[in-house]
Amino acid sequence: MENLLYEGKAKKVYKTENPNEVIIYYKDDATAFNGVKKASISNKGILNNKITEILFTKLSEKGIPNHFIKRIDDRSQLCQKVDIVPLEFIVRNYIAGSMSKRLRIKEGTKPDNTIFEICYKKDELGDPLINDHHAVALELCTYEELHRMYSLTNEINEILKDIFDKEGIILVDFKIEFGKNNNGEILLADEISPDTSRLWDKKTLEKLDKDRFRRDLGSIEEAYIEILNRIN
Ligand code: UDP
Repeated sequence: MENLLYEGKAKKVYKTENPNEVIIYYKDDATAFNGVKKASISNKGILNNKITEILFTKLSEKGIPNHFIKRIDDRSQLCQKVDIVPLEFIVRNYIAGSMSKRLRIKEGTKPDNTIFEICYKKDELGDPLINDHHAVALELCTYEELHRMYSLTNEINEILKDIFDKEGIILVDFKIEFGKNNNGEILLADEISPDTSRLWDKKTLEKLDKDRFRRDLGSIEEAYIEILNRIN
């Protein structure tokens, strides 16, 4: 399609008549381990589109500036056009995944502090973990912008923890991305879904996120539906 601006692993971005707006289309494709493991998860695009709509709407209500404008249909949403800052902001409320592996800490350990990490979004390098000074040296953003993004990330974590906690879900960790709109404002962008977070049932500790795909646990669609139903 001629209006396609960009195609990623899980989403496509299309131009609209308005140069400041794009349509984001959610696919069913799933990848893990830097693209090595690939599959299609039925209805994932529909579920992540709706889950992201709900979470971004709640974040807007709490004053978090973000790119979301409205959901258009099952798989697409209208968003402000932004230039993505090539950084992934990761928040860990509990230790899991790569941090658990890298530092040999038992999954599910709860540190006394909240852990913030940044990774450089660069497929060829496998999105390496970097620090603030690397990000500035690579000219990905300024120290002021980093400060702003960390501050928003912290606020977003507090809001999301509360939303999930009320529904009996532990927000273990998540990844977010920011972009700059044509006014140079920094906005939360991309998505927040079970693809980009770890969500455990508070009572059973059952995983209700993409780890079901990464670890071949089955019932992936059911887990995403459970998340949508609880936050809806
Ligand atoms: N994450 C993501 N995209 C990435 C890397 C991580 O959405 O490219 C999310 C991941 O789903 C988890 C959190 O960020 O909720 C922390 O991921 P981790 O560093 O543990 O890496 P992973 O186990 O996903 O390799």
